Amino acid sequence: MTGQLFAIFGNPVSHSKSPLMHNLAFSALKYDGCYARYRLEEGEKLKETFFALGLKGINITVPHKAHAYKACDVLDPFAQKVGAVNTIVEKEGKLYGYNTDAPGFLKAISEFKNVKKVLFLGAGGTAQSTSTILRDEGYDVTLLNRSEGRLEKFKENGFETYTFENFVPKTYDLVINMTSAGLEDDALPAPQAILDHIIPGAQACVDVIYGKETPFLKLARAYDKPTKDGSDMLLYQGIIAFEHFTGEKFTFDEIKNHMKKAFIL
Ligand code: NDP
Repeated sequence: MTGQLFAIFGNPVSHSKSPLMHNLAFSALKYDGCYARYRLEEGEKLKETFFALGLKGINITVPHKAHAYKACDVLDPFAQKVGAVNTIVEKEGKLYGYNTDAPGFLKAISEFKNVKKVLFLGAGGTAQSTSTILRDEGYDVTLLNRSEGRLEKFKENGFETYTFENFVPKTYDLVINMTSAGLEDDALPAPQAILDHIIPGAQACVDVIYGKETPFLKLARAYDKPTKDGSDMLLYQGIIAFEHFTGEKFTFDEIKNHMKKAFIL
């Protein structure tokens, strides 16, 4: 095998940890690959850019996951079901699409035992794939979103959905921030009065945002709840993508041992 080139496509993309994660694993596992970052401005150009750069595989981040889905020749059944692709691998000139965010998230929350009822704060793209995998695994997922629009799809798919205005709180084992509230601001993902009502009854609170303690996790900690940010989700989606990139030549734990060093560098 001669060297293979991989990249992350997004806009912005300068903050991404993916190049470091994948390059640490390529190097330690002696796989002849190199992973770069590419700021893609026009999502419609994803496929032509992929081939023009001579890539073997990519990860796709905001705002191009829907374009990535459309660019694929072959879709993994789960990616097809949720309509979102964050990993593409080229095989004999065809683009194969996968969703590794959702299984990465599922693995990240697996440390919380005896969890059945989960409340998602937010109903965006990430909530779409993760709610589906959780339901497939037997969790009972309710969605609470700021506005009505994005809830429609979830409602059609049989999820219990609420806006802040019509929310009828129950007891949830896990409360999860699936919004971008707190990413670049100090916003809570829902009005504090609602959070003050639901956090005390939860076993733990989880955020998909990583690398900082969001106002949501701060509030959860003030209630003495165990908290978890989005770092493990990021790590696990990366490991699963690496398995696809390398044709499953390495075990999950082998990859993890090297990739996780990206979080202390
Ligand atoms: P989308 O743009 O698809 O959806 C954003 C969601 O956040 C919507 O439900 C929106 O509500 C809600 N929202 C945004 N701002 C606020 C606010 N101030 N108050 C309340 N709700 C708000 O985003 P994604 O689903 O793609 O991403 C969501 C988060 O997931 C991001 O923070 C992203 O960084 C993170 N993420 C983390 C990953 C990881 O590996 N750890 C992987 C992928 C994503 P409305 O419908 O009302 O606009």
